[in-house]
Amino acid sequence: MSWLRHLRWKLFVSHMLIIVIGVVVLLATANFLAVTNLAQVAPPSLGSAASETGQVSPGPAQSDVTSQQEQFRTVVDTALLIAGFAALAASVVVSLFVSRRIVEPLQELSIVSRRLADGYYRERTSIQSDDELADLSQSINQLAEALEQTEQRRLALLADVAHELRTPLTTIEGYMEGLLDGVIAPEPQTFAMIQHEAVRLKRLIEELALLSRAEAGQLRVLPQPVELPPLIEHVAAQFQPQFAAQEVQFELHLEDELPEAFADPDRLVQILINLLANALRYTPSGGQVIVSATANETFVRVGVRDSGIGIPAKHLPHIFERFYRVDKSRARRSGGTGIGLTIARHLVYAQGGEIWAESEGPGRGATFYLTLPLYVEVAELV
Ligand code: ADP
Repeated sequence: MSWLRHLRWKLFVSHMLIIVIGVVVLLATANFLAVTNLAQVAPPSLGSAASETGQVSPGPAQSDVTSQQEQFRTVVDTALLIAGFAALAASVVVSLFVSRRIVEPLQELSIVSRRLADGYYRERTSIQSDDELADLSQSINQLAEALEQTEQRRLALLADVAHELRTPLTTIEGYMEGLLDGVIAPEPQTFAMIQHEAVRLKRLIEELALLSRAEAGQLRVLPQPVELPPLIEHVAAQFQPQFAAQEVQFELHLEDELPEAFADPDRLVQILINLLANALRYTPSGGQVIVSATANETFVRVGVRDSGIGIPAKHLPHIFERFYRVDKSRARRSGGTGIGLTIARHLVYAQGGEIWAESEGPGRGATFYLTLPLYVEVAELV
């Protein structure tokens, strides 16, 4: 009976049960007492018939009626009393049942939610029922699951951050100790290494601050109609000297009459800088980097393609995770923090776009694509 899965029906049925038990007991007792008690009294018709014949005086007939009335009242009172007690007993039994089915699970839920509030995220409820309480228990378990996962992510982040901060600090400490002990010569090269680590530390801290704001959804993204070619050309101009110095051929392939995108220009610049810095970092000299921009009916797609070291297929799904680096020591040496792509993905998502990477494998280059909604598409939606 599916309707019995609802608490309101369960409560209704339990109340009805008390009423039914009361009424049944009342009827049964009244019947029983009527048969046993009232049968002993002479029927009033007999008295009146006798008085008509003049054989019996009207006095005793009157007293018969009175005693009959008393008997009747006694029967009614007794029946009501017994029925009242039966209903009381039924209500005790029903309320015990209801409290077992409702109050006990509620108490368990309240204990579990208090333990969750105290930070014990492993706590779960185990309510076996089929009503709304089971739904509530399931929701609390889901909440506990989500809290536990958040806590695990927080702990993992703390461990990652501690590890990332320790590495450059240990290097700086090592150099300083070597300098103090006279083991390392105080040469400009040594100081440059120390500065390199300090710069990396500062960058890491800045990116961490940005990441925490991005993950908390606090990065301000203000989309507006954006002409992509001038924006891409502006960013490319900043990188041109670095690509030239590294002897990497750098080209722009931008589609003619590219429609306007609906994006935040500052955030877009930030994403492009990240992708181009990676292309520069992971493309050896003699390589090539191409930035392209194309459009279809719903979005514009920007691609940053390089002919660099490439990304093995098994790493591709993970490179947008924070602190994920394909080659940890190589990325660290080149100043990589493993956060850039995570921030880029947050920024792209916040603008209603998508970002992904493709690579044919190690040594065969990598292409990063990002899509952004078209301004006309968004304008039509509004
Ligand atoms: P990082 O600061 O270490 O570059 P990112 O989040 O920007 O951090 O990138 C994460 C990882 O993805 C890098 O450590 C690198 O292993 C890989 N990666 C990113 N861009 C490229 C690329 N263009 N070519 C090859 N590997 C790349």
